[in-house]
Amino acid sequence: MNNLWSGGDGPVKKYKLQHFNILKVLGKGSFGKVLLVELKGSSRFFAMKCLKKDVILEDDDTECTFIERRVLILSSECPFLCQMFCSFQTPEYLFFVMKYLNGGDLMYHIQQVKKFDENRTRFYACEIIVALQFLHSRGIIYRDLKLDNILLDAEGHIHLADFGMCKTEMNRENGMASTFCGTPDYIAPEIIKGQLYNEAVDFWSLGVLLYEMLIGQSPFHGEGEDELFDAILNERPYFPKSLGKEAAKCLSALFDRNPNTRLGMPECPDGPIRTHAFFRGVDWKKFEQRGVTPPYKPTVRSPNDTSNFDEDFTQEKAVLTPIQDKTLLDSIDPEAFMNFSYTNPSLAN
Ligand code: ADP
Ligand code: MG
Repeated sequence: MNNLWSGGDGPVKKYKLQHFNILKVLGKGSFGKVLLVELKGSSRFFAMKCLKKDVILEDDDTECTFIERRVLILSSECPFLCQMFCSFQTPEYLFFVMKYLNGGDLMYHIQQVKKFDENRTRFYACEIIVALQFLHSRGIIYRDLKLDNILLDAEGHIHLADFGMCKTEMNRENGMASTFCGTPDYIAPEIIKGQLYNEAVDFWSLGVLLYEMLIGQSPFHGEGEDELFDAILNERPYFPKSLGKEAAKCLSALFDRNPNTRLGMPECPDGPIRTHAFFRGVDWKKFEQRGVTPPYKPTVRSPNDTSNFDEDFTQEKAVLTPIQDKTLLDSIDPEAFMNFSYTNPSLAN
């Protein structure tokens, strides 16, 4: 669907690379960079994710980019998902222009303080649970919950970003997926075992994330991937004495290796995740409306402040790297990325 028209306000503008000034590098991933950009002459700043077409085609990941686009469009319906301003392409690149979340990602923040206290962890957990349950209610498994994909806005509310690994349109018969993917530390045991899996994998990752936030290290360890996977399949994570009783219970229930009875899933013997003792007293309605004041407000001096991002990135020269393999580019099917462009009508005018 190419939504170019917004009600009554005339056509929504189609954006191109020429409309933006490239200012800084914010992050880097497997498919390319995320750059801080300014919409020319507007003093409006955005994060522009640049995906190299040659890498996408080499990895046979065209579908993932369209799923990422679809989830970014859906994001406008949930306050805890990163919003998209527009998407477009050049012969070499695909671009997602998103709201610039200048508070930085949780990986950056945990590195500053080693771990978060229980109150701060619970706050992030609540907003993440609202976001995950929203995605699940739309038939989407997130599959990539981890510290570096969770961004803070200037007020300190969270936004899930990076929907390149999302799974939609699961096999309708049983709602299960089978692809082996995810970040090793966060992968659920049923994925390692090669079983069909469902949204319960996101609750396993939530357990790993909560453990990291509360304890300041990963729950499962191993030298190399085989040892790590062996630990995920067999070992009990270490709970230090300082860990609160309810927090420990919540983590144990999330680390249930049976996905059916894992906390977050309907058959969990502890009941729904929102009523778990760790979340006692939480006003979920208020959370859903983004009405709970964040316990930590990042230091943000201006809308284009990049001080909450790693200097390794922000000090780098902000340019789009030219594509190496010109022959591959020439061989791109011109229809491969058709209808990729989109402008969010609620942010455009
Ligand atoms: P990848 O698929 O390569 O992991 P991500 O979408 O996770 O790409 O982006 C990589 C990094 O870029 C993130 O960890 C974050 O630091 C930064 N980033 C991504 N989106 C935004 C955004 N909307 N605002 C600010 N920074 C962002
Ligand atoms: Mg990422």
